Amino acid sequence: MPERETVIVVGAGLMGAGIAHAFAASDCDVLLVDTSRAALDKALDTIRGTFAAGVERGKITAEVAEAGTAAIATAEALDERAGRASLLIETATENLAVKCAIMADAADRLPPDAIIATNTSALSISEIANAGPAPDRVIGMHFFNPVPKMKLVEIILGLETSRQTLERTIGWTGRIGKDHIVVNEAPGFTTSRMSALMGNEAMHMLSEGVASAEDIDKSLRMAFNHPMGPLETGDLTGWDTRLKVLEYLYEVMGERFRPCPLIRKMVKAGRHGRKTGKGVYEYDAAGQRIPGSGLKVSR
Ligand code: NAD
Repeated sequence: MPERETVIVVGAGLMGAGIAHAFAASDCDVLLVDTSRAALDKALDTIRGTFAAGVERGKITAEVAEAGTAAIATAEALDERAGRASLLIETATENLAVKCAIMADAADRLPPDAIIATNTSALSISEIANAGPAPDRVIGMHFFNPVPKMKLVEIILGLETSRQTLERTIGWTGRIGKDHIVVNEAPGFTTSRMSALMGNEAMHMLSEGVASAEDIDKSLRMAFNHPMGPLETGDLTGWDTRLKVLEYLYEVMGERFRPCPLIRKMVKAGRHGRKTGKGVYEYDAAGQRIPGSGLKVSR
């Protein structure tokens, strides 16, 4: 039997939980790292729930679910286990300084051939790579939420990313059952650039009273066959993360990405989306959307 490989996931929020699950479900040992113990506990709960749902739907056996859950260890900081890792994926808060600090810390602890990936939504891979000593081994692996369901990984090349790093990263995405696209570094890559713009415009329409939140979402679903509308997508992504992406794109690409003031207001009000129980819509304790709860900007 081939030796099990170790994958480190740094950041145990919305994305870290999904990414850790994907590798644990693909026969890897996973070390999930977060500075917040509460985030790690919540991520483990989410992962157990994902495995349990797989058993309920008859996709996996209870033994596989148990083995997958047991393959995930947690830590509040990187430790000597990093010395066994083949791949590290950074998926902490969307902040350049945070990501650069993680890169610099990781590079010294990992084996010399380990791949170092970042799940940034928009930031420069070259700039993040430049924070560590091995920019040729740094690459963007942009996952989508919810990771267990979404089939794509957007692979982003930094200026120094080597051919070998790209080929091995393509191998990893196949191993966890995902398809991929390869993108040369550009702010927001392909996906975030398009979805940030659409979500921002939808928020402008909501704040101008053009239509209700429900009808703005319905228009994209029913007129263009998108599975979700732009406001419900923002609730899923998290408006705090969305705002950080827009602020970055505005800074580097200009006026068309200027964040809609309503997004700033929502983030200040704690309406971050599903993860805080309310965003554009409100959600009950089971995470179900409350009918008719779409945000009304003027009453
Ligand atoms: P989140 O806010 O849910 O989680 C971020 C986690 O990072 C938190 O648990 C926080 O405690 C942790 N963290 C912060 N600093 C840390 C550090 N120094 N070391 C370890 N952990 C640290 O955010 P998220 O939605 O999971 O996003 C994470 C990354 O993934 C961001 O770069 C985001 O842009 C990107 N991303 C998000 C989505 C999405 O739909 N939410 C999709 C693709 C990519």
